[in-house]
Amino acid sequence: MVLRQPGENGRGRDLMRGLMQEWPLLIHKVIDYAAAEHGGRAVLSRSVEGPMHRTTYREVRARSLRVAKRLQLDGIAVGDRVATLAWNTWRHLEAWYGIAGIGAVYHTVNPRLFADQIVYIMNHARDRVLFLDLTFVPLAEKIAGRLPSVERYIVLTDAAHMPDTSLPNAVAYEEWLAGADEDFTWAAVEETNAAGLCYTSGTTGEPKGVLYSHRSNVLHAMMTVMPDAFGLSTRDVVLPVVPLFHANSWSLAFAAPMAGSALVMPGPKLDGASVYDILTTERVTFTAAVPTIWFALLQHLEKTGGALPDLTRVAIGGSACPPAVIEAFERKYDVPVLHAWGMTEMSPVGSICSVKPEVWSEDYGKLLAVKATQGYTPFSVEWKITDDAGVALPHDGKTFGRLKVRGPAVARRYYQREDEEILDEEGYFDTGDVATIDGDGYMRITDRSKDVIKSGGEWISSIELENLAVGHPDVAEAAVIGISHPKWDERPLLIVVPKPGRVPEKDAVLDFLRPNIARWWMPDDMVVVADLPHTATGKILKTELRDRFRDYRLPTEA
Ligand code: ADP
Repeated sequence: MVLRQPGENGRGRDLMRGLMQEWPLLIHKVIDYAAAEHGGRAVLSRSVEGPMHRTTYREVRARSLRVAKRLQLDGIAVGDRVATLAWNTWRHLEAWYGIAGIGAVYHTVNPRLFADQIVYIMNHARDRVLFLDLTFVPLAEKIAGRLPSVERYIVLTDAAHMPDTSLPNAVAYEEWLAGADEDFTWAAVEETNAAGLCYTSGTTGEPKGVLYSHRSNVLHAMMTVMPDAFGLSTRDVVLPVVPLFHANSWSLAFAAPMAGSALVMPGPKLDGASVYDILTTERVTFTAAVPTIWFALLQHLEKTGGALPDLTRVAIGGSACPPAVIEAFERKYDVPVLHAWGMTEMSPVGSICSVKPEVWSEDYGKLLAVKATQGYTPFSVEWKITDDAGVALPHDGKTFGRLKVRGPAVARRYYQREDEEILDEEGYFDTGDVATIDGDGYMRITDRSKDVIKSGGEWISSIELENLAVGHPDVAEAAVIGISHPKWDERPLLIVVPKPGRVPEKDAVLDFLRPNIARWWMPDDMVVVADLPHTATGKILKTELRDRFRDYRLPTEA
């Protein structure tokens, strides 16, 4: 049918619509698909109670339908927020699909936040129900009095493990679920309806809510499944070490069922030995997490002499992955690394570093230089770098600029701050990261804009110095911050955590950096500390370090 609509000039303009079906991109269609096409595929979890739990996509779907029906019996309706404070397990997964399946919004709360932050975001979201793991019952008991909107606490366990609790209206999940059968039809909501809510951890200012839609989650998962992204298939066994509460587990709770991959959920145990154990026992082929998890795994492997025979790739992101970590995985354990970048506001994946033929090299040093970048955009992410005035900068691999992004899975507004404009006039969102992009499309984050060190009018990349420093055999973790300097404005201070039993010497570490950096990038001093403060998503908390070292005097000041 040809529709006629008046054009801008007032004369008729032809508008030809496609004649294909309306099939809204809803996330419960993902679990429907997995149950229909890959129904017997395993979903394995380390339960919070201890033992391994085995189920299938068919079973997960059936129980999600019961969650949905049961929530509806409790009066939960379209648009209501239902919070989860939980590890990655099958129950958390069922809760997600069940919540979104009635058009309500799953709100993942990061248990690593301070209690006051949790209270703030749950009140801001006005959550009506909280699903929580046994682990978090004591935490919830402490704050329940300050959560007036929460009507019911559902503890993700069975009657036998249900603790005595002061939580109002508390019930064991399995008992609660027994109150509904699976005879239920998913709500027919629009694909643009809200499905999930996740607050940025707010390293500066108040946490801000990112409100995902069904459509954004589905499109984002389709993007991460693609071959040069995570490349998931029915032959994969996927272990999201990255929690569901860390920006949608980087899509894996949707992407794995969409691809028909088996899913392994690590539960509460995320230390090196436990991750190694589940990786090898369940023969995981693909896994993803932040660098600190992989530091711990590599240390465990070094100590025990273990191997990773089944793993075919590992995605590392959330913070810059040091080249030394990439090299260890690839050369010692024969596991290719996919370095990924993104943020809560991007659902979260923004770029992934796979090797295009034009950058392939036989020389591992050259290849590593590519693999250490944050990669290029998959289809559906667009980006640019600009100066402070918003003028686009060249993609020459040298010019730094503010990294800005747009796409169907990028935030347009923050929840309950809808009057605040967060996009530029071309519709791009400023990520707060400073980056270069080279001629082949590979992006390198030099810093968060607030962490970059400004010395004599030039910028020094704290990330690059940190990456180099952790390559030194005595250094376990490193942070670089700017210390104010009378002549140069700021100069870098290197702060390192020693490897167990080692004593990093300042001169030795600085000499180690020297061949790889410009002279004026050399830190003016180095201090050794027992540990570094981290955010709830595993990043080094630079704001706290800057506070701690506010009165620090550099030896070069005199
Ligand atoms: P937060 O709420 O702590 O900001 P996010 O997970 O949304 O949590 O953090 C996103 C930020 O993390 C990015 O803007 C970027 O600064 C940093 N980041 C993520 N991945 C990488 C990476 N691969 N390399 C460098 N920085 C990264």
